[in-house]
Amino acid sequence: MDLDRLWKNTQEEIKIVLAPAVFNTFIAQTQLIALQHHTATISCPNSYLVDINQKRYYRFFKEALDHQSQLDLTLEFIVQEPIKNQDSLPPPPLFTPSQTSSSPSFRTNLHPSYTFDNFIVGNSNNFAFAAAQGIVKNPGTTYNPFFLWGGVGVGKTHLMQAIGWQLLHHQPNLKVKYFPAETFGNELVAALRTKTINQFKDKYRFADCILVDDIQFIAGKEYIQEEFFHTFNALHLSGRQIILTSDRKPQDIKDLQDRLVSRFTGGLTVDIQPPDLETRTAIIRQKVEESNLNIDPLAIDTLAQSTNSNIRQLEGQLRQLFLQAQSQNLTTISPLFVQSFLNPSSTTNNRQSNSLTPRHLISVCARYFNIKTGDLCGQARQKNLVTARHFTAYLLISELKLPLKEVGHLLGGRDHTSIMHARDKIQSDLSTSPPTQQVIHQIKQLLL
Ligand code: ADP
Ligand code: MG
Repeated sequence: MDLDRLWKNTQEEIKIVLAPAVFNTFIAQTQLIALQHHTATISCPNSYLVDINQKRYYRFFKEALDHQSQLDLTLEFIVQEPIKNQDSLPPPPLFTPSQTSSSPSFRTNLHPSYTFDNFIVGNSNNFAFAAAQGIVKNPGTTYNPFFLWGGVGVGKTHLMQAIGWQLLHHQPNLKVKYFPAETFGNELVAALRTKTINQFKDKYRFADCILVDDIQFIAGKEYIQEEFFHTFNALHLSGRQIILTSDRKPQDIKDLQDRLVSRFTGGLTVDIQPPDLETRTAIIRQKVEESNLNIDPLAIDTLAQSTNSNIRQLEGQLRQLFLQAQSQNLTTISPLFVQSFLNPSSTTNNRQSNSLTPRHLISVCARYFNIKTGDLCGQARQKNLVTARHFTAYLLISELKLPLKEVGHLLGGRDHTSIMHARDKIQSDLSTSPPTQQVIHQIKQLLL
């Protein structure tokens, strides 16, 4: 079987069902390199593509390849540089930068860490990510303008600037200019006041690529919209790349002139959704890696599940968590630490909620005292076990209102008088001993 031909046909078939940006980014650079024993080996230029093709696009590859080959195949993806002169395209066919003499005052305004490398891809943003990569390959052509929309803190500004950095990486003398639409508006007003409108126009029309953040700002402001319309046209006509972000899609921006809506929707419009569990987990993992701390995988799950907030808030929350861990000289973040971080002031009401069971309480106490549940409820009488038992007995009574007899039963078949002694001991210590107060306070925090 001619593998090259088979693969060409397979790719053509996949191309029909996937968006062009996805196809160009993930599928186009793959190659079928072997077909043996019902296994097809497909090479990708890097491990990122191996991962994403395996996870997300396996089904597309399989359907098309099975159809083309008339076989029922298992696919394996491996990393292998594409063979020269075959699929390895030369560096992207960038548009020619404007030849205007370089202005010393030209500033890109890009944030150093808003790059593709730092951008985590998950279900919520993978389409936008693919589209962004497509633009870097063919700026000023297919996706012009590129309109990126979505809620607060979902990564619009980051992704937009990542495109800017990547364009500069390919072509360092390109004039990439990032600015919030609000800045455009403010500078326009100032230019009108100081009669420097020509300098203002030059400044913006001089760029090879503009990244305009939060364009919804100009809605309802007639004069700013007018000027932006002309800036947009001047750049677009000369094949300059325009990238816009907004909190909603162009059609939904109230009081945005129709002609602007029509310009903005003339290229590619893509949204970023709030981060799903997978994306949040990946973000937490990356931030922990950068922090010199270790984290228990269970703690990552607890954190990722605790919030469905936006990525900016998630980052803020992680910064606080790391600070707390560092201030307590912890090197590893445990699930319990995360729980107490998330619920620092859980109220009595919460603790009495149905979710607190005797079994859970006992296991939290065992973990707190660093002993096995079996030992806590066992017969051995070492000092540390006895102390832990006293605290556990006290909490079973105070938090769950269990009768003495039942507590005795749970803690290894002890009789109710010894449970009563335990309770009274802790109760009297609580009024005099700060360490005892602290232990009870800390365990209660862990109980959610
Ligand atoms: P938006 O412009 O949509 O309000 P930002 O781009 O400012 O959101 O992102 C908010 C914060 O979250 C930034 O610090 C950004 O680096 C981070 N962030 C957003 N999306 C991602 C992502 N996919 N991977 C890593 N960090 C992200
Ligand atoms: Mg933003």
